[in-house]
Amino acid sequence: MDVAFRDPVLARELKVCADCLALSTGLVADEEGAEDLAMIFRLPRTPDGYFLEDHVKLRPVDLPVPGFFVAGTAHGPKTIRESIAQGQAAAGRAQTMLARNVINLGAAVARVEGKKCAACLICVRACPFDVPFINAEGTSEIDPAKCHGCGICAAACPAKAIQLMQYEDDHLMAKLDGLLEGVLR
Ligand code: SF4
Ligand code: SF4
Repeated sequence: MDVAFRDPVLARELKVCADCLALSTGLVADEEGAEDLAMIFRLPRTPDGYFLEDHVKLRPVDLPVPGFFVAGTAHGPKTIRESIAQGQAAAGRAQTMLARNVINLGAAVARVEGKKCAACLICVRACPFDVPFINAEGTSEIDPAKCHGCGICAAACPAKAIQLMQYEDDHLMAKLDGLLEGVLR
């Protein structure tokens, strides 16, 4: 039997004479289970429904939410050998996190100045990761361990009660002044 196919490596149409043609079975993501997990923990997914790693080369088994790792067919169709290798990598990454007594957080996280907060809930609704909440004092609070530092809440707060560390308003205004100094003279 002649089998014609396109070789993606050679980028050419090939034809071979084969005794047997074995096609691999298609695989689809577990839409229901993955959707629930993604909604609860705010985990990103690909258009095909698989979980999306943080960085394909630098963090291939880490999910963008700290403490979450991905391996096997939750990440995409792959062989058992690949799944095992990825599972070992994910276990190694988890081990490095668990072995530490102290975990350093990123410095660029949002902080609320309680005195200015009017508890309007805009930041609570705006945060894509559901981080801000109204605390016992009746003001918004942001857990730095959960904050991704996107700055959406700081931009949305009408009372200017939220500052993104390392990108505070006075910091940015000073930079802008310095930048425009020579231009506006
Ligand atoms: S948006 Fe600003 S004023 Fe409103 S709850 Fe959040 S921090 Fe407070
Ligand atoms: S900086 Fe982004 S992730 Fe952090 S609390 Fe604000 S909106 Fe949420």
